[in-house]
Amino acid sequence: MTVLSTQISCADSTWNPATGCTKVSAGCDHCYAEAIARRFFGGFDLTLHPERLAQVTRFKPVERDGRRYPRLVFVNSMSDLWHRDIPDAFLDRVFDTIAGRPDAIFQILTKRPQRMLAYALARWRDAGVPANVWLGVSVEDNRVRRRIDDLRRLKAAAGDFTAYVNCEPLIGPVDGMDLTGIDWVLIGGESGPGARPVEARWVRQAIAGARAVGAPVWFKQWGRWQHNPLWPQAQGRTVRARRDDLVGRGLERMPQEHGGATLDGAVIQEFPASYHAAADRLTGQAAAA
Ligand code: SF4
Repeated sequence: MTVLSTQISCADSTWNPATGCTKVSAGCDHCYAEAIARRFFGGFDLTLHPERLAQVTRFKPVERDGRRYPRLVFVNSMSDLWHRDIPDAFLDRVFDTIAGRPDAIFQILTKRPQRMLAYALARWRDAGVPANVWLGVSVEDNRVRRRIDDLRRLKAAAGDFTAYVNCEPLIGPVDGMDLTGIDWVLIGGESGPGARPVEARWVRQAIAGARAVGAPVWFKQWGRWQHNPLWPQAQGRTVRARRDDLVGRGLERMPQEHGGATLDGAVIQEFPASYHAAADRLTGQAAAA
């Protein structure tokens, strides 16, 4: 696999300079990357792909409605960039490459924030984390909320970069999260075979936590149609018929997402301020050129 057209609604592209991983917490139980890797590539062992570093030349800005936006590149959708088996020397090459593409934004999400913290402090303590590197942690439920602390520690020590929390797959309460200093909160129910149901009250907890600190929210999906709180109202004999009924009656407005993504009649898809600022800069540069 090389650069994929992404199905992640809050990213434009994916980039996998490494693939393969090992599980660290309950959020990994139904890892889609593992399922894909085992099905199509015969295994999920950690593998470095230095030949893919050159792919960043493709990550040109996105044009929409006469404006230029930095391409949002989700890094290592098929792995965790901070996995212990990815050597520092390879991380150096990844981030040297990223530094050469300042007009794109690289989203790096992890369940291993301690490695992220150690590497980032060694590399960026003085200079600060670059503006085009967004660092995030996964918080699938309260049990792993401490991951946010490492992100916050890094912000305190290495600059005001864009820090985000991804509550996906949301599989339990998240009312214990402290989101102070966090710039963006993403939320999503689990999809795929055996997906665990997400409860609307957990989604609301994550949103309330974000609102309490003024962080924008992106609610991605309910995960499965059967887990959409509108489902009991749906009429029809098949999943497709019931989905079409909800969409036809205007109750669900995001049928393209797994299980829909409407909450209390609203679609919540907000970007952090840094994204809009980067788009302003790019659009201004294009106009001046
Ligand atoms: S950290 Fe991510 S890629 Fe690795 S096993 Fe867990 S869910 Fe899969």
